Amino acid sequence: MTNVSGYDSGEMLEGLREWVEIETPTDHPEAVNRLVAKVETDFAALGAATQRIAGKRGFGDCLKVRMPWGGDGPGILVIGHLDTVHPIGTLERLPFRIDGDTAYGPGIFDMKGGGFIGFHVLRNFVRRKQASPLPITYLFNSDEEMSSRVSRDYIMEEAKKSKYVLVLEPTREGNQVVDSRKGTARFRVKVTGRPSHAGSRHADGRSAIKELARQILRIEEMTDYSREVTVNVGVIAGGSRPNVIAEFATAEVDMRVPSRALAEEMIPKVLNLKPFDPDCIIEVTGGPERPPFEKTPGGQALLETARQLAREQGLELVALTTGGASDANFSSPFCPSLDGLGVVGKGAHTMDEQIRISSLPERASLLHRLFETLN
Ligand SMILES: [Zn+2]
Repeated sequence: MTNVSGYDSGEMLEGLREWVEIETPTDHPEAVNRLVAKVETDFAALGAATQRIAGKRGFGDCLKVRMPWGGDGPGILVIGHLDTVHPIGTLERLPFRIDGDTAYGPGIFDMKGGGFIGFHVLRNFVRRKQASPLPITYLFNSDEEMSSRVSRDYIMEEAKKSKYVLVLEPTREGNQVVDSRKGTARFRVKVTGRPSHAGSRHADGRSAIKELARQILRIEEMTDYSREVTVNVGVIAGGSRPNVIAEFATAEVDMRVPSRALAEEMIPKVLNLKPFDPDCIIEVTGGPERPPFEKTPGGQALLETARQLAREQGLELVALTTGGASDANFSSPFCPSLDGLGVVGKGAHTMDEQIRISSLPERASLLHRLFETLN
């Protein structure tokens, strides 16, 4: 077992196992709340002030934890989600198990590993009778895997009151952290044509499917890798029977953009799609889902601090931009944010989800130094 600055991977793994073995699918609020309750109890035992925010719209509770070190001013906000994409019963197919330097389990990588690191570092501060220069607030949410539909408001509200945001999402190998993420938009495109008999009245029909097919090509062509814009038609549906000219057809679209400016340019292009066939009607609903996590001077200064602290332990951090969104998308417009500070591993959302065990003490030690240093 590896040991970095007093962080022991064996002890951490034992604690993390308890988090992993409480299954927490986003759409199963009672299950998620079992872990929320455990995390609340464990933080309260450290002397932290805890606050449960009751779940809404079918999601589990959120948990706010505050360590009032360093006064009442703006402090460090640490964000992690307790929900996972894995349904109840996944633990039977993917039980917690250890193989050399690898540990497996549902949600162990995305992102119970990171959440547990956050808890364990605070516990180590208390054990060592240490206090951070800034107050530390944790926000654990239960709906991140469904775009933080409810908790995004709490995240933005807390980010506005904070000096730094640290997000404990995981990363893959290569000493990565995440300093920027694309923003996302979602759309539903509905085409209404004119139905008719495909045999006897073919010329009278206006096929919604044909119209949608042309629109799909137009939408897909909005992808521009040179500007890091991607657009994907991920779901289509339409028509009723082979011998009927289709009255309805729909498509669901995912768009990713690296900047606010490109969001403003690209989103109206989908919202304002015009029909090729003037007898067809197009209705587009949707719009921005998560704003981009853009690089800012404050965010880059925070990254630089983390880099220097990692160098002390012999690690050269690599800053990564990714198309995948996280809660840093919601915090970063309001407060310098750094993401990807959680555990190292791979296989998010799969039956191969795993972490590198020795990254637990590495990442805990980095978070510890950030808590000690940020002021
Ligand atoms: Zn995650």
